[in-house]
Amino acid sequence: ERVNIAQFFHHIIDRFEMNKSEDITLDRKLPKDNVFIWVDKDKVTQVVDNIISNAIKYSPEGGTIKFKAVKDKQKLVISISDQGVGIAREKLDKIFDRFYRADKARSREFGGTGLGLAIAKEIIDAHHGQIWAESKEGKGTTVLFTLPLINKKRGNR
Ligand code: ATP
Ligand code: MG
Repeated sequence: ERVNIAQFFHHIIDRFEMNKSEDITLDRKLPKDNVFIWVDKDKVTQVVDNIISNAIKYSPEGGTIKFKAVKDKQKLVISISDQGVGIAREKLDKIFDRFYRADKARSREFGGTGLGLAIAKEIIDAHHGQIWAESKEGKGTTVLFTLPLINKKRGNR
């Protein structure tokens, strides 16, 4: 369905802020004007939920998570950055594989199946977007994904 970006993402992040138990700050930067995307709301919510949960899960107490959505030509680029443990360069692509978990010992401690990002990739692929990650070990991780914007002139569907 057609979705107002600011409304949609504010709603998801609000829910996290209400439920978070850890000492984590969530920062957000969203477009102020009305920007629309065409998405399956439940599915994209699931993607954002997993990425924010990961950011919280793999960050120490007191960290800041930055959520940003910016327009870039015909796309919306969403990025979620944390100040957590990070991911080694050679493992960055693998985290989108099914059941892959970067740090076996640590991951076991945190629980989970290693499916979250694989499902996220399937969902973003189905929306004709891209998803990838950038990271520095010990410094933090940024997960980014794109979604096509609705073209105002043509109305797009
Ligand atoms: P699930 O999401 O199924 O509960 P999971 O979180 O382990 O389990 P994914 O979300 O697919 O699985 O993530 C895969 C792996 O990528 C994680 O196990 C973790 O090692 C690494 N990872 C993902 N996000 C981050 C992050 N923000 N910081 C550090 N490592 C991360
Ligand atoms: Mg996960």
